[in-house]
Amino acid sequence: MKINGYELNLSEEQLDEMLNDKLREIDLISPDFAGYRSLPETEKKVLPHLVKAARIMNDVSLEQDHPLNLSLKKGLEEAARTSSHAAKALRLFNSFNGVAGLNGLDPDPIEIFKGVKIYPGRNFYPADLSVEEFHKIIKKMLETGKVEEVRKILSARTMVRRFNDELKAVDYTEYFAKEFSAVANELEVAAHYTADEAFKDYLGWQAQALIQNNEDMDMLADKHWAVLQDSPLEFTIGRENYDDEMTPTICENPELKSMLDNLGIEVNSKDMLGIRVGIVNKKGTDLLLTFKDQMKHLARLMPYADRYAQNVAGGDELKQTMVDVDLVALTGDYAQCRGAITTAQNLPNDDKLSIKTGGGRRNVYHRQVRMSQDMDAVKKKLNALVAPELHRYYNPEADHIFVIGHENGHSLGPDSSFKNSLGLYKHTIEENKADVVSVAMMPEYVKAGIIDEKTLKEVYTTWIVRMFLKARPQLIQPHRVGDLIHFNYLLEHGAIRFNADSKLEIDFNKMPEVMNRILEETIAVQLSKSPEKAKSFIDKYSTWGDIHRYIAETLRKIGIKPYIEIRTYF
Ligand SMILES: [Zn+2]
Repeated sequence: MKINGYELNLSEEQLDEMLNDKLREIDLISPDFAGYRSLPETEKKVLPHLVKAARIMNDVSLEQDHPLNLSLKKGLEEAARTSSHAAKALRLFNSFNGVAGLNGLDPDPIEIFKGVKIYPGRNFYPADLSVEEFHKIIKKMLETGKVEEVRKILSARTMVRRFNDELKAVDYTEYFAKEFSAVANELEVAAHYTADEAFKDYLGWQAQALIQNNEDMDMLADKHWAVLQDSPLEFTIGRENYDDEMTPTICENPELKSMLDNLGIEVNSKDMLGIRVGIVNKKGTDLLLTFKDQMKHLARLMPYADRYAQNVAGGDELKQTMVDVDLVALTGDYAQCRGAITTAQNLPNDDKLSIKTGGGRRNVYHRQVRMSQDMDAVKKKLNALVAPELHRYYNPEADHIFVIGHENGHSLGPDSSFKNSLGLYKHTIEENKADVVSVAMMPEYVKAGIIDEKTLKEVYTTWIVRMFLKARPQLIQPHRVGDLIHFNYLLEHGAIRFNADSKLEIDFNKMPEVMNRILEETIAVQLSKSPEKAKSFIDKYSTWGDIHRYIAETLRKIGIKPYIEIRTYF
């Protein structure tokens, strides 16, 4: 069957198998949800406008991700009216939120259409631009004095297109002028209705930022967003840059990198946009705030703490808000479920102007995502791979506590000038660091009386079981490569082992010491500012051997569900 001239790459039978046996559903909240019914009438009026903004932004991300996304989605929607095959392909498309994606199991992306592949530069760059040509053009443009144009090309907020034999950058506010202005309109109306002054303020700034070609406006919007702690509604424009594999290659080219450094040009990967809408959950948020109280204390305990300024250590006020959220809508980047979906997020990232100019961060936890665990699969996994005496320590709530520590961990350690110097490896090292900070600092929460000794064992066990990998991860999956690194580190240093039955055993007494060691090594890598050191650290600890293959095969036999479908009711 053909859509706009492109043949479907998966048969209806293959799609049936994926959608019936391998798909996990995540139900977002509906109008029946108690937290919605108890919202003030003013905020109930706000919500539909935020949801509409989210839908519009989804089209922006589709365009950023692949040049054919929008037209092929439309083609699938039309064909789906009369063809069950097309309807199923459309469900998979919506699950990836694009024409293709990794499923976390297979090494290559699953492609919905024959010959329609994902490009390293996504649609941020021309499809036919190779890394070599990209570097050649940037070098030539620098040599001919086109410094400001190169600065725009390497900015996080531009689409790059060919221009004669060079490249030119189009700011998002121009390329997406129609969509951004429609989103801004919705936000203006939402700002009009809400009775929450801080939220009203933020929405006003955010609407302005969408219609002005001015990074300072993003900075101001981000700063107003990051302080939201008590507002009943949650609205975020996510701007994360993990998808762009073209821009960061510049950091691998020492000649070009030093030319750019001398001219004071930063290399920032492109932001993939998305929107999250939700209702703040009061009880869950109160738990988060008890962890927040420990951050300054933890900052002092970080390795080499005297060698860098920590985001949380300055001044009297800790610039970090955090909320637990019941989700109403996830679109754009948030809905690109390609082997995973995020359970929490701490923004803005280090490359953003608001962080560089002293703004705070806001941490949002996704309740419906974390509550959608497949407990049958967990039981099978424990029986197959974990020593029986440890089963009682597996607890999804402990996983949530680990994630709190991970998100707080992003705010601890060396600042962005160190982290960003690691080029292609920065995300892997940073995600590894956040995991390691979380687990290494967990005994401090016990000392502070926030969790007990049993919970500590639950955090260790649940975390280690979660590190079991279904497939060898790739550099584009920084969280999974991080998992492999600490899994191997724990094995090598004797904190975990696999017994004669190939079942996991944990030496709880050894955990604190081994975790402190890996934390120290990780921070040393960030302080080195050396992509080579980062690469050799990653290479050393991300080896893949018999035990990994055994675990991956066992997990595959159990039957895991790599595809994710988000169900929205607003
Ligand atoms: Zn993280």
